[in-house]
Amino acid sequence: MPELPEVETVRLALLPALENHRIITAHVGRPDLRWPLPEKLADRLTGRIFGAPQRRGKFLLVPLDGRETLLLHLGMSGSIRLHDSPPKLGAHDHFMLAMAPVDGEVATNFMVFNDPRRFGWIDLFSDEIHPMLAQMGPEPLGNMFSEAYLAAAFANRSGPVKTALLNQQLVAGIGNIYACEALFYAGISPRRKAGSIKARRAQRLTAAIRDVLQRAIAEGGTSLRDHVQPGGEIGYFVQQLAVYGREGQACQRCDSRIRAIVQSGRSTFYCPTCQR
Ligand SMILES: [Zn+2]
Repeated sequence: MPELPEVETVRLALLPALENHRIITAHVGRPDLRWPLPEKLADRLTGRIFGAPQRRGKFLLVPLDGRETLLLHLGMSGSIRLHDSPPKLGAHDHFMLAMAPVDGEVATNFMVFNDPRRFGWIDLFSDEIHPMLAQMGPEPLGNMFSEAYLAAAFANRSGPVKTALLNQQLVAGIGNIYACEALFYAGISPRRKAGSIKARRAQRLTAAIRDVLQRAIAEGGTSLRDHVQPGGEIGYFVQQLAVYGREGQACQRCDSRIRAIVQSGRSTFYCPTCQR
């Protein structure tokens, strides 16, 4: 499932293809993904001009002229492709936009939204903030996120810190992979009570979260020129994970075996020696 760094990589790839481009045609292949798509979505998008894509948590927000915003969420299995000629659409290509530079009429950019499992989401809204985003916690790479914020947000929470990190209302954009990785680098057990994360632990965890996300974004940025692969897929690779997906393998710090447990229905990977 794409998390903050992967969505940020997608945003950077979309930026030159969407900003200051006019939608020539919109293709909406089915009436719903995770939820119903907005009514008359294709009609409402045709002729509109995109501003620069933004990201909030795991959501992509692309402003349109006329004050509306297109919301894209990749869900579990969603991906976006970019093409410079009209692509052949496959079974899971549910949404496509053909775009021209703002002063042109011939489509030069084609964006395809593919989602086999259909947990993704597309919406078009005109409010200042989408209701789904109103309760979202601060961006972990933004100024509002600090050790003091983290300690206050986690205070009095008796559930495990790993579960608290996945709560988008406490901090935005972190999913299962980067929650596990950040806890490893902070040396904190995923089973520790969230309410016990304060002072030096809050400091270590805040720094580790920032560090793993920034490194992942940097890797996404260097893995491919313009982030786009030859087939049009936007390239992001989750690389060099320390614990996630490494059950039974040796910890890179202490040689203990990485352990896997299930917390709130999600797999957690950690080193029982390094993480306390
Ligand atoms: Zn270890």
